[in-house]
Amino acid sequence: MMDKLTVANFKSMIDQALADIKARADEFSALDAVCGDGDHGTAIVEALTAIQGSASQGTEFKTMLMDMAMTSMSKSCGSTSTLIGSFFMGMSMSVAGEELDSEQVKAMFKSGLEGVQKNTKAMPGDKTMMDTLVPAVEAFEKDTTDIKELFDAAAEAAAKGAESTIEMKAGFGRARNLGERSIGSADPGATSWACMFNAFASTLN
Ligand SMILES: [Mg+2]
Repeated sequence: MMDKLTVANFKSMIDQALADIKARADEFSALDAVCGDGDHGTAIVEALTAIQGSASQGTEFKTMLMDMAMTSMSKSCGSTSTLIGSFFMGMSMSVAGEELDSEQVKAMFKSGLEGVQKNTKAMPGDKTMMDTLVPAVEAFEKDTTDIKELFDAAAEAAAKGAESTIEMKAGFGRARNLGERSIGSADPGATSWACMFNAFASTLN
C-alpha cells in the first residue's frame, strides 16, 4: 500500500521514463516515418532529456513541474515538446508540497490532461497521443487510495490506448492527408506516451 508520492519517487519515475524512451527511440521514429517525418524518437528524447535535467533539481512539486514544463517548451519548439511541456505545466497547477496523497495524485493528472487540451484539439479516435493520455488519466479515477495501484491502472489503460491506434485512420494533423495508408501501424506519440506511463508504474513496483 503506497499512500504518499514523494518528490524523490517522482524524480525516479522521470529518470526511468527517459531511460525507457531512449531505449525505444528508433522504434518511435520508424512509426513516425510511416505518416510523418520520422523524427519522433529524436524529439521525445530531446524533450524528456530537458525535463529530466530540470526535475533532478526539484525540491517541491509545484515549482519542479513548472520548471520541467518551461524547460521542455524553451529547449525545442516542436509539437512533441509543447504537448509534453503543457502536460507538466497543467500538473503543476493543482499541486504543491513535497509529497502528495492519492487524491492529490488524481487531481495532478486530471489537470495535466487539461493543460494538454489547451494545446491540441485532437480527440480520442484521431490516432494521436490523446488516444493514450485520455484513457490513462481516466484510469486515475479508480476508487483506491493506493498510489501504486493507480499508476498500474494508468499504465494498463495507456498500453491499450496506444494499441487501439493501430487500426485507426489518422484524423488530425498532416497524417490525416494519408487517409487509409495510416491504418496498420500505431501512432508514434500514442506509443511513446504509453512507454512513459509504463515507466512511471514500473518505477513504483
Ligand atoms: Mg515528426
